[in-house]
Amino acid sequence: MSSVLYVVGGGPGGLGAAYAGSRLGYRVVVFEAHDSLAVKPCGRGIPVIGDFPFSIPREVVLNRISYVDLYVDGVRAFKAGGWIEGVIVDKSAFLEHLFASAGAEVLYRSKYNIRGSYVRVGGSTVEVKSGVFAGGFPYYEGERIPVVQYVVEKVKDVDLEAIEIRFDTSLLGYYYVFPQGDSVEVGVGGFSNHNTLWGLLDKFLESDDRFRGFRIARREAAVVSVGGLRLGYINGLVKVGEASGYVLPLTGEGIRPSFISGYIAAKALIEGRDPIKALKSSWISRAIRIQRRLLEWAKSMPTGNRRKLLLSLSPEEHAEIALGTLRISKLARSMLLKPGIALSILTKILPATISS
Ligand SMILES: Cc1cc2nc3c(=O)[nH]c(=O)nc-3n(C[C@H](O)[C@H](O)[C@H](O)COP(=O)(O)OP(=O)(O)OC[C@H]3O[C@@H](n4cnc5c(N)ncnc54)[C@H](O)[C@@H]3O)c2cc1C
Repeated sequence: MSSVLYVVGGGPGGLGAAYAGSRLGYRVVVFEAHDSLAVKPCGRGIPVIGDFPFSIPREVVLNRISYVDLYVDGVRAFKAGGWIEGVIVDKSAFLEHLFASAGAEVLYRSKYNIRGSYVRVGGSTVEVKSGVFAGGFPYYEGERIPVVQYVVEKVKDVDLEAIEIRFDTSLLGYYYVFPQGDSVEVGVGGFSNHNTLWGLLDKFLESDDRFRGFRIARREAAVVSVGGLRLGYINGLVKVGEASGYVLPLTGEGIRPSFISGYIAAKALIEGRDPIKALKSSWISRAIRIQRRLLEWAKSMPTGNRRKLLLSLSPEEHAEIALGTLRISKLARSMLLKPGIALSILTKILPATISS
């Protein structure tokens, strides 16, 4: 490697790589296809659990989240909080601010050409033969599910410090209501198709009094990569972020996993270690493998069992599974209290804790 780190993609995966590169004294050049960052739809929610090498800048935070309001098939399981911390960010401001603070040079309208391994920048051509590839979901080869969402204004009685999750066990997915400043992002994702999801989301809005008289500010559709890890290279560039499956399959959370994967891969690359090995053995890869196994298990279950399982978990267990911080030792202890459920989860996740 020269002392320049090339990064393709100006999303969270590219940001993680840029952060590691500049920390290790490299000049970082980021190629971004669009003329701005964070063009793709996103809920913009980030749990704050101390796994970023920076504090989230106050000026990019739209809402501070202290509660999770969780429903299963219309039944409220809990509204828990006090110990939960998260933020909803202005994602483009978040990325711009942090690329700048990492000292990375972001080149906009600079699309990396996969066939030719080059980027045209202004009048010249830059050959890119090594570095980090963080181009996002279009390059992911595993299972993806559709998500649709509205950003709506003039909504009544929504708690702007809470995120609302409403599991739908027959869809095998969930509706979400996330605050976004004074507005609200409301969406649904699951094992279905975009048209069906739009129909379900419209029905949900009609049936909920809080959305009477609302105004739609934006209507967005996208996909989320939930198929687990697909590690490897594109033209000698190591894949990170959603392009290689760094999305937690049960929740669709991708900002934190993508950042962490970019950071780990770039650091290993610069230090002369094998980036794939470093990624494979990381805690975030283990968390994704565990969630993927739990998702496969949930897919194979009758709907009633999914409901029973979701309702049987405590707020802390939900949080640990969702965040990828579930500990085997704790699960083993909880077998004394809930032997059937804890044992079932344990037997599903044990193979996923082995790194290769
Ligand atoms: C509706 C929806 C809601 C979501 N909500 C959340 C949420 O609340 N919290 C959360 O953590 N995650 C959420 N996610 C997931 C999250 O948005 C992604 O997983 C995350 O942004 C992936 O980061 P990334 O850097 O790998 O890819 P991306 O964010 O997709 O960034 C890739 C970048 O690469 C650029 N690019 C692509 N190809 C090229 C090329 N050839 N040359 C140069 N540049 C290129 C793109 O323009 C883009 O800027 C959500 C996803 C969806 C669809």
